[in-house]
Amino acid sequence: MSDGLMIEVANLTKRYAGRTAVSDISFTVARGEIVGLLGPNGAGKSTTMRILSCFLPATSGTARVAGFDIFNQSDEVRRRIGYMPENNPLYPDMRVREYLKFRARLKGLSRTRTRERVDVVMEQFGLTEVQKRIVGQLSKGFRQRVGLADSLVHEPELIILDEPTIGLDPNQIRSVRQLIKSLAQTHTVLISTHILPEAEMTCNRMVIMYEGKILAADTPDNLQRLMSGNSQVIAEICAPREVLEACWSEMAEVEQYDVAPAQGEYCRCALTPLDGVDLRPRIFAIAKERGWPLRELTRSRHTLEDIYVQVTRPDEEEA
Ligand code: ATP
Repeated sequence: MSDGLMIEVANLTKRYAGRTAVSDISFTVARGEIVGLLGPNGAGKSTTMRILSCFLPATSGTARVAGFDIFNQSDEVRRRIGYMPENNPLYPDMRVREYLKFRARLKGLSRTRTRERVDVVMEQFGLTEVQKRIVGQLSKGFRQRVGLADSLVHEPELIILDEPTIGLDPNQIRSVRQLIKSLAQTHTVLISTHILPEAEMTCNRMVIMYEGKILAADTPDNLQRLMSGNSQVIAEICAPREVLEACWSEMAEVEQYDVAPAQGEYCRCALTPLDGVDLRPRIFAIAKERGWPLRELTRSRHTLEDIYVQVTRPDEEEA
């Protein structure tokens, strides 16, 4: 398939006894992208990641990593993936360096290569100073760093990180995010999170999952544009309600309007434009032309958070 794609998922489904965790999802990730798998608890993010990392068989569908089939060519796939599971199963009694060496050997690196790579990843993740410490006695932030170092020790092309900042304090989160960003230049990264700002800050594309399905997949900017394409304009104008309503009903660029009395003699007009139209200059011109006092003219853009809540809680809309 295409050379530019690191992950190709087609119609992937995973059913556990009586429960569909992932339901017929398809998506691709290009080489060099940092993609955020975003969704609330239980959306199916971990299941998807486990399948891609060859830890779990799918019920149906196909997936390829770096062109290799995850079911039939799992050895090739494993070699190319660095996977950090949600509850990083580090061996808590080992020392940092010892642990990383152990993991590197397990992943098939030679003795010499192991020594080289362990030194590199310890340096990369700021672990050199704690190399002799017992893993289980490190702070959670440092343990996450050990997990990241582990996932990268065999120089994988693709890194899959399941909730890498969960349980960290704000400083540790910042530092782990920086580390992830620093990987972006040379790797492809798939990262799961249920925290929107995390995806917004770290990823150049987001795949939003909910109840095992993909609801939206795009860049943060495009998602925002897409969802707030016809963002409402609010105008508070001092004029009779019927006059205002008649005015908006005649304007071709206004798709919907709602006029309600506001404080004083003013009316609050909520105007939804046709796609892509910014109504503000038109409203200002009309108010000026007709001599209507105008005390507010704003455009309410949906934030990504609105979008996330909107797509992942459709039932509670307008509640
Ligand atoms: P979280 O953020 O809570 O980890 P998630 O998006 O990663 O959520 P998954 O862990 O993939 O979601 O779970 C998806 C669904 O599959 C959930 O409803 C979960 O209860 C169910 N599930 C996961 N693992 C199993 C299992 N081994 N057996 C049965 N059901 C499972």
